[in-house]
Amino acid sequence: MPQILRSPQAYDVCIIGSGAAGGTAAKILTEGGLKVAMLEAGPALDPATDFKEHVWPYQLPHRGAGVGGKATADFTEFLAPNGSWDIPGEPYTNAPGSRFQWFRSRIVGGRTNHWGRIALRCAPVDFRARSTDGMGDDWPISYEDVAPYYDKVESYIGVFGTKENIPSAPDGVFLPPPRPRCTETIVKKACDQLRIPCIPSRLAVITQAHHGRPPCHYCGQCGRGCITASNFSSSQVMLPPAEQTGRFTLIPNAMAREILLAKDGRAQSVSYVDKTTRSEKKLYAKAFVVAASTCESARLLLNSKSSTFPEGLANSSGVIGRYLTDSVGSSGGGFFPQLVKMPPHNHDGVGGMHMYIPWWKYDRKNDFARGYHIELSGGRHMPGVGEFYETCEEAEGYGVPLKQKCREMYGTYIGFSGRGEMIPNQQTYCDIDPSVVDEWGIPVLRFHFQWGESEIKMARDMQQTFRDIVEAGGGTFYSKARADGAHPYGIHDGGVIIHELGTVRMGSSPKTSALNSYCQAHDVKNVFVTDAACFVSNPDKNPTLTIMALSWRASEYLLDQAQKGNL
Ligand SMILES: Cc1cc2nc3c(=O)[nH]c(=O)nc-3n(C[C@H](O)[C@H](O)[C@H](O)COP(=O)(O)OP(=O)(O)OC[C@H]3O[C@@H](n4cnc5c(N)ncnc54)[C@H](O)[C@@H]3O)c2cc1C
Ligand code: SF4
Repeated sequence: MPQILRSPQAYDVCIIGSGAAGGTAAKILTEGGLKVAMLEAGPALDPATDFKEHVWPYQLPHRGAGVGGKATADFTEFLAPNGSWDIPGEPYTNAPGSRFQWFRSRIVGGRTNHWGRIALRCAPVDFRARSTDGMGDDWPISYEDVAPYYDKVESYIGVFGTKENIPSAPDGVFLPPPRPRCTETIVKKACDQLRIPCIPSRLAVITQAHHGRPPCHYCGQCGRGCITASNFSSSQVMLPPAEQTGRFTLIPNAMAREILLAKDGRAQSVSYVDKTTRSEKKLYAKAFVVAASTCESARLLLNSKSSTFPEGLANSSGVIGRYLTDSVGSSGGGFFPQLVKMPPHNHDGVGGMHMYIPWWKYDRKNDFARGYHIELSGGRHMPGVGEFYETCEEAEGYGVPLKQKCREMYGTYIGFSGRGEMIPNQQTYCDIDPSVVDEWGIPVLRFHFQWGESEIKMARDMQQTFRDIVEAGGGTFYSKARADGAHPYGIHDGGVIIHELGTVRMGSSPKTSALNSYCQAHDVKNVFVTDAACFVSNPDKNPTLTIMALSWRASEYLLDQAQKGNL
């Protein structure tokens, strides 16, 4: 029987996970005067050495492609560290027929070191979608409840954008956007012809000095981390102010296994694996913020079984693990001949799109539920490993003629990625695999995932729209999507868009939800779940801005409850 080491002191709050949700909670709770400990399953991060923003391919062994080109699927040497589709020693499983994929980051800051920084607000209708079309459920909160927190998050982290007054894409507190690139002006002109809005995108990248952080220098490498903290990561933007309070203790390499209850039914401690010593430890706190990411949070609660909660902590409703969704994703693109002869020009910018297409058919009758937006890619960014794969596959020959072909084709392709809303269904959820444990002996998650008819029709609509825009812009449409097969209309497998949400949802009734509208467990008042597990629906908007707004709101509520002595 391993010895369990008890932490010498009790904290006011223990936060589990240091990503978007955990980082936000750490800032608000410590600045509010509470003594906070944070458990993070990954190692510490030093941006100066761990981010490879300005490393050239020729500085890396095998130019970053790995021995025999084997690294090309993951390009880990071209990304911020410790984010992957496969975490060694920490597997997950899929039930027969399910192909869910799970991207996790094991590092301080979590996936906010890797994310695309697209920072969109949900619209008022997104919070009351059931009242509008009868599907899914309404949130127990409205846009008006969350809007002040969107304001606070945007004002603090810095998001660029423009005021557009589009009902499906509410405006925020914006820094000035960067100018459109050449490729984006082609898309914009095509969209104008088709009466589709194409507007400056909204990204958590600062275009002016902001709260002591220097502005973006337009190297275009956000996915590799930003040494100057000019884009948002929890590790560089949320955790430093928490540390400055002197009330914050970060414990890296600490994998929470189980939350344990006291005799009075409150959560009392968390048992965790210290990965560096492989020992089991316990940390005591008056309240717990579970922010390990949607599916890890569900896993932790499901694994925290007791006589009071035999189906998992705070799970008297049985909803934990249920209502899992991801964004509907389908991609296509176009070859634009006018770009072939384009002289070298300045394509510098942020590491993401400068323009995007918000959902525009909200006032029409569509043959699928809800909506989607379109993200743009392509152009003359620094070529990465694998950039010319397709040209090499299509072109004959090798040597100088092949290189010439690659140069000619470079920057002539514009990519379109649809991101749309999935309606929760009974067949899609995660539970604990009864027969598999990870390297630390912790039972792993098993995924069950199925798209519904509406999502497939939405993917079809995306493909048609991509084609319309490409052709209106004078390009040749290109897509691998087929109407049938495993991925009808190019719909990606569940999880691939990395917008998994909903597994510990909030709601007004403890019978049909696990959390109240402040992310507080109905069953155990000193447990809060502030990541996207709490979402009730998965609107087309990328979730992270909303995660931070909800975590900020929940943390202010927790502070208030602590001050009133209710925790
Ligand atoms: C490549 C990529 C691009 C993306 N692009 C966008 C985008 O443009 N816009 C957008 O809105 N979203 C985007 N996302 C999604 C975004 O990253 C997530 O929504 C966001 O990071 C989720 O925040 P979180 O706090 O819930 O979890 P995470 O950021 O995943 O952080 C969770 C942390 O908890 C830790 N943890 C897990 N389990 C335990 C445990 N048992 N004990 C202790 N610690 C634990 C993990 O190690 C991790 O550090 C993208 C994601 C990726 C990977
Ligand atoms: S593009 Fe800007 S924000 Fe992104 S890594 Fe470069 S400097 Fe940082």
